[in-house]
Amino acid sequence: MADDIDRAQERDAANLADALAAQRTRAKTAAHLVATGECLNPHCCEPFAANDEGRLFCGPGCEQDYQRLKRAA
Ligand SMILES: [Zn+2]
Repeated sequence: MADDIDRAQERDAANLADALAAQRTRAKTAAHLVATGECLNPHCCEPFAANDEGRLFCGPGCEQDYQRLKRAA
């Protein structure tokens, strides 16, 4: 029983570390980007809901695609 709880806590800690790392990457990426209310990936341009103010991409796939396009440019 205690083992189950330990395992759950380890998993939570790992998820938190992943989330923080993703957030740091996002903050670095976002530093020079301006939110326009739609996905910045030119292949997507998905409009975001009004309460998604400040959002840059609809998902990690679009962000990676954007970075790839930017490097190629
Ligand atoms: Zn998108």
